[in-house]
Amino acid sequence: MKGRFAPSPTGPLHFGSLIAAVASYLDMRCRGGHWLLRIEDLDPPREEAGASDAILRVLESYSLHWDGEVRWQSQRGEVYQHALQQLIDQQQAFACRCSRKQLAGAVHLGNCHSVSEPSANTNNRTNTGIHNPSDDLDAAWRFLCPHGELTFHDALQGDYHSQLSDIGDFVIRRRDKLWSYQLAVVVDDADQGITHITRGIDLIDSTPRQLLLQQALQLPTPSYCHLPVALEPNGQKLSKQNLARPLQPDPTGNTLWQVLQWLQQQPPKELQGAGNEAVLQWACQHWQPMRLQGLQSQPAPAEYRR
Ligand code: GLU
Repeated sequence: MKGRFAPSPTGPLHFGSLIAAVASYLDMRCRGGHWLLRIEDLDPPREEAGASDAILRVLESYSLHWDGEVRWQSQRGEVYQHALQQLIDQQQAFACRCSRKQLAGAVHLGNCHSVSEPSANTNNRTNTGIHNPSDDLDAAWRFLCPHGELTFHDALQGDYHSQLSDIGDFVIRRRDKLWSYQLAVVVDDADQGITHITRGIDLIDSTPRQLLLQQALQLPTPSYCHLPVALEPNGQKLSKQNLARPLQPDPTGNTLWQVLQWLQQQPPKELQGAGNEAVLQWACQHWQPMRLQGLQSQPAPAEYRR
């Protein structure tokens, strides 16, 4: 059994990140599973200098020790290229130069012009003429989304249905050559043998895309648990983009205690200042995923909000 925490270094961790980290950690540790750390540094323009180091330091300061080496997605380009090539060979990926303006907010449904053959049939959904994802090609690569609908079971949210026509042909490699989160996360979850994914419900819309890619690449599908998220007073979720208050190291254990309280684990009052190791040890022994059922997104405690 393996779980993971996979932050993007676009800013420091906040209380909401810690909720996802702690829940995935406990979900594995209380069952003797492994817990891995992956830094999703795929998008240098959006990254913040020093954020990766700060993330590692903060996790260590909370005694959230991961197994093995940290995985860095920035070093995995060749493997992602391999996966893209497989999709191209299977005619499940195609090059596309549609601009945001052309799409005008609509999903992409095979409605673009072939990149390699300007004279080709513009309704050709497979674009079979293209087999070379060369870096010279000034185009994005999209996954050719099948028709129909998809349902997966989430441990907390129950059955989650999506109409694939609402997803459309999504980008797996951007025109600026950056790898998409969707492709990289699927390739790495499989490569690292991840069996259980616990993360915020803000990512649940991505899960059907990830299932489609797993199926196309013949990779196993892990089980999913999407947690409610911590909110700012204005109802926005805490996020790096919204400049959530950065987490400070807290050796007292109080912050972890607050996370457990937020997750409805009912930690005893006397544990509050007992230190991180003691709080985590208690949490591993008393982790009750049943108590997450019915949990809603709710405000973070005042000291962790903006
Ligand atoms: N890197 C993503 C983020 O920081 C999370 C990825 C995941 O858990 O699948 O939002």
